[in-house]
Amino acid sequence: MINRPEGFFYIIFLCVYIIFFTNCASGNEKEVNKKVGKKEFSRRVLSYDEQIAALKRMEPVLPIKDAHITTFDGQLPNAPRKYRGGFHEGFDFYNGFCGVRIEKGTPVLAIADGEVVRADTNYTEIEAEKRKMLLKEAHSLGFTPDSTLDILRGRQVWLDHGSGIVTRYCHLSAIPAGLKGKVRKGDVLGFVGGSGTKSKVPHLHFEIRLGKDFLEKNKTPSEIREIMKEIFKK
Ligand SMILES: [Zn+2]
Repeated sequence: MINRPEGFFYIIFLCVYIIFFTNCASGNEKEVNKKVGKKEFSRRVLSYDEQIAALKRMEPVLPIKDAHITTFDGQLPNAPRKYRGGFHEGFDFYNGFCGVRIEKGTPVLAIADGEVVRADTNYTEIEAEKRKMLLKEAHSLGFTPDSTLDILRGRQVWLDHGSGIVTRYCHLSAIPAGLKGKVRKGDVLGFVGGSGTKSKVPHLHFEIRLGKDFLEKNKTPSEIREIMKEIFKK
């Protein structure tokens, strides 16, 4: 039989236990936020259409000066990626597909005003063997885990534009020293490279995230081109 003081401590213990595990359950999201710059992301409070409208109001520019969206559907969001399982989640800007010369060192620009929430200034390239192993695992799963996608994106900068809109600039060869805090539309965030890729062919992988999804998930290439024309006026 439990006497009164023991019962009291038992209840306190139970409360601490419950609080601890409740915190663990929401710990994943906190961990991600910590990883991307020790800052909470804007909460998704707007609907998808409202986010698109917010993006349009920013009058954004494309991340490579004078470029247009790729002419090749395989470089758009939702393009299948058979080598790893899953789909492409962004826009690739390769030389020969976007109307301007794109090479290692081409400046990568902020598409709109925003705040740097991640800048991999101390990036280390993944070893070939580890890359191979992760791709093999993704292929057998039939989808690519987020942690693997993150590695495959190489050296990255992420900008938070508010309204749940985050843009990601990936495979960079370098990031300007001291890049942090608020940036303005057109500011240089980094330089085109091939980090995180097997081929090392320089190109920019650019993502627009709306809440937890990427822009125009499950849409066709012509629908994606249409919405990009509306947003970027190009
Ligand atoms: Zn890509």
